[in-house]
Amino acid sequence: MQQRLKPLEIKRVRKDYPQVNYVKEGIQYIELNRGCKRQCEFCWSDPNYKVFPVPKIESNYVQIWGENILYDPDIKEKIIKLGEQRVNKKVVYYGLGQGVDYRLIKKDMIKLLSENRIGLINNKKNWYKRIKIAWDLGIEEEGKIKSIIDLFRSCGYRYVGIFVLVNYKVSFDDCLYKLAKIKQWNCGVDDCPHDCTKRQFIPTYWEEKRYRMFRALCRDHNINLGKPKEVKPNSSHN
Ligand code: SF4
Repeated sequence: MQQRLKPLEIKRVRKDYPQVNYVKEGIQYIELNRGCKRQCEFCWSDPNYKVFPVPKIESNYVQIWGENILYDPDIKEKIIKLGEQRVNKKVVYYGLGQGVDYRLIKKDMIKLLSENRIGLINNKKNWYKRIKIAWDLGIEEEGKIKSIIDLFRSCGYRYVGIFVLVNYKVSFDDCLYKLAKIKQWNCGVDDCPHDCTKRQFIPTYWEEKRYRMFRALCRDHNINLGKPKEVKPNSSHN
């Protein structure tokens, strides 16, 4: 197995900067919180967790940034407040691109996300009732991952996407096992290479040819999974 020559040095603490809040091409990008307290050894999230107030909502499509929104002590109140917002007398749809931490979420929170239109938004301003969770740890987490998928589905999230960390200590074979489970559960998959990008792959724990093979399998799986139903803003929704 190919390894990096230099030891990995993760510098998590970032320079402070103002709360993200801007509109680009009709989508508003906001932060409610920043960073993550969990400090997983492979992750760059800032452990100095910060929280921000709900900013003025100006678009019917809002993308929420924040690595782990569930550490925010006021997250429930913030989500309710987001759900109450109207722009041009229409409801607002929210995207949570970085997913949720399955170890912190319970059914009441999933219901709250569902009731307040928290899903995924693509750059064409299409909103989907989808959610993402990460299966970064080993295959022994299978039972917990499956239970949380079931909980999301019981709250109306038929599509659940799973981030799978690759090029790290979980082996290629174990990641193939995860992919087989993801197929069996009819979920989407997003392979996340450790410490590099999908385009500019840097081998740390996996050889590049294995990563390319795994990526191709993930792509094939997602194509075969079909497209979820799109929802447009409608003032009759709440
Ligand atoms: S829970 Fe997620 S965001 Fe937080 S440190 Fe771990 S990988 Fe990073």
